[in-house]
Amino acid sequence: MRDPNQIVFFDTTLRDGEQSPGCTMHHDEKLRMAHQLRDLGVDILEAGFAIASEGDFAAVQAIAHEVKGTRVASLARCKREDIDAAGRAIQPAASNRIHIFLASSDLHLEYKLRITREQALDQVAESVRQALTYTDDVEFSTEDSTRTDPEFLVKMITVAVQAGATTINIPDTVGYTTPAEYEAIFRMVKQRVPGAENVVLSTHCHDDLGMAVANSLAGIRGGARQVECTINGIGERAGNAALEEIAAALMVRRDQFPYTSNIKMEKLFPTSQMLAECISFGAAPNKAVVGANAFAHESGIHQHGMLANPLTYEIMTPASVGAGNTNLVLGKHSGRRALADRLEKLGHTLTREQLDEVYHRFTELADRKKSIYDQDILGLLKPEKAVVVAAAT
Ligand code: MN
Repeated sequence: MRDPNQIVFFDTTLRDGEQSPGCTMHHDEKLRMAHQLRDLGVDILEAGFAIASEGDFAAVQAIAHEVKGTRVASLARCKREDIDAAGRAIQPAASNRIHIFLASSDLHLEYKLRITREQALDQVAESVRQALTYTDDVEFSTEDSTRTDPEFLVKMITVAVQAGATTINIPDTVGYTTPAEYEAIFRMVKQRVPGAENVVLSTHCHDDLGMAVANSLAGIRGGARQVECTINGIGERAGNAALEEIAAALMVRRDQFPYTSNIKMEKLFPTSQMLAECISFGAAPNKAVVGANAFAHESGIHQHGMLANPLTYEIMTPASVGAGNTNLVLGKHSGRRALADRLEKLGHTLTREQLDEVYHRFTELADRKKSIYDQDILGLLKPEKAVVVAAAT
């Protein structure tokens, strides 16, 4: 029996994430990430798109073979050869899934696929049945759901459920929806699709308007119990909903989202760091939860508050997401309290008069220099010996 309050985390870092510019990973890097994602506690790991290339097939197969303790999925279009490739690639895994998709919007059906709505429905039924010959866990996605005629969306999902799909993903493929609208789509599907109560509904949101995480959370409110997401929010165009942000929102705002998950929060930061090593860029410094500045404070008022009680300016501790310690950055906005605190950590307790003097020299230096290092601070104690440490390049 499924726990109705558990949120299933479906990670697509190695599929949607990997197919975006600058995010290509080698075989060994994919395997390393897959082990880490399993340790992080993701329930389903979308390892790739088996038909896309020999490399993708080999990666999905190797992950299915090696990575125990998570469900391994491959993506497939509604094509016989795609489903065959996905089915063969995931075969070594103890638990696996085929994730098939077909566009549901008229825009995609007419211009991209050049098929009628009726032909689309036939393909869905046939493809779900074919996938079920490889595994009893079949996910079906209505691509571009949020720009689909709601009547037809209900019809296509009904066909997929009747054919035996066990998870229905309703992706916001192009990052177009808003939280209220997306929540309403889930409520409509739950209400109007016969048998919807027997399948897991899933979100898959893109960040083109910066709402991917908000939309995912709205989907949960509407009845979704699976979220598709990626580490650091990598993915097509502006990226996917960031796994670490959804997990942190569920943790910090449990009052709003009374759900459980298998995510081990303290593994979030190390996983983000590992991904940055595997691809060509890391998280932006101001990225929520895992950015270098996510737990850094420079202004005097904030530093004073943080030293008095971290709850004043932090809604979660860095340790809770595996990010080490809060970083009080000393710069021109910092005050005496933070300077005295740092000096004490460096082994120097100053009198009030000494601190005033050193603080004066500190503000002069901070006006000239963007990054103040501990060596600079120590240098301020003995002005005649002060050597300004050059900024690291
Ligand atoms: Mn996507």
